[in-house]
Amino acid sequence: MNFIAADADYKDAAMVLFGAPYDSTTSFRPGARFGPSAMRSESFGIETFSPYQNLDMADDMTVHDAGDMELPFGDPRPVLDMIEAKAAAILDDGKMPVLLGGEHLVSLGSVRAVAARHPALHIIHFDAHADLREDYQGNPLSHACVMRRCHDIIGDGRIHQFGIRSGTRDEFEFMSSGHVATERHTCGTLRNLSLPQDVPVYLTVDLDVLDPSEFPGTGTQEAGGLRFRELLDALLDVFARFNVVAFDNVELAPSLDHSGRSTAIACKLLREELLAAGRRLQHT
Ligand code: MN
Ligand code: MN
Repeated sequence: MNFIAADADYKDAAMVLFGAPYDSTTSFRPGARFGPSAMRSESFGIETFSPYQNLDMADDMTVHDAGDMELPFGDPRPVLDMIEAKAAAILDDGKMPVLLGGEHLVSLGSVRAVAARHPALHIIHFDAHADLREDYQGNPLSHACVMRRCHDIIGDGRIHQFGIRSGTRDEFEFMSSGHVATERHTCGTLRNLSLPQDVPVYLTVDLDVLDPSEFPGTGTQEAGGLRFRELLDALLDVFARFNVVAFDNVELAPSLDHSGRSTAIACKLLREELLAAGRRLQHT
């Protein structure tokens, strides 16, 4: 089963969806490994047409859904190598990789592949959590450290965080000392962010940036989050103004929300992202 309307053959596709069903370093409640498969089956509950963008998935994008990777649980190192190789192959075929987690650590594999091909890479990061720990209980490859590991690769001033409302004192000091640009609680300063037209951007969306009242299906809920419409508007702004070369959505844990609304929200956001990315690819 593919995500709704993501039914193009690989050779014809401008974008390639792939799932990384991994949650072994999850620090609290696991279950994100089931995110991609739940999104595929639940996606048939939404329309292919977007009234927000006046675009239809059937007409305005070509996406191949490569399914879920078969990943070993436990040690994250081989998992990250496999995700990096997968994203690299998609990029080298001239297509945009779209990664579905899984826990947030999986983004690091994709970022490695993208940064190797786009040395000027910037990252736009939506999350409740800073994810800037040097290590988590001695493990530098935890989902709580993923943006710190990305910072190791791309350096100061290239990570732009939105919606952050949780972290350690060390993480908040790391943010305020200028290593990364962080907007707390909201996306308010996104409109002020400007980058040269050709700067490549990796977009990573930890869905726990949403408020738990709307999106309880995630392993580490954090009160005080974004509303759906606020996140949607921010994401559409990102795709409209920046040169997004790859993106991901992570941390949906469907079994933690028996109402199913978190999965429904995740599907709708992905539809909008694919359409926005597809439109941009058609016009470049
Ligand atoms: Mn995260
Ligand atoms: Mn988070």
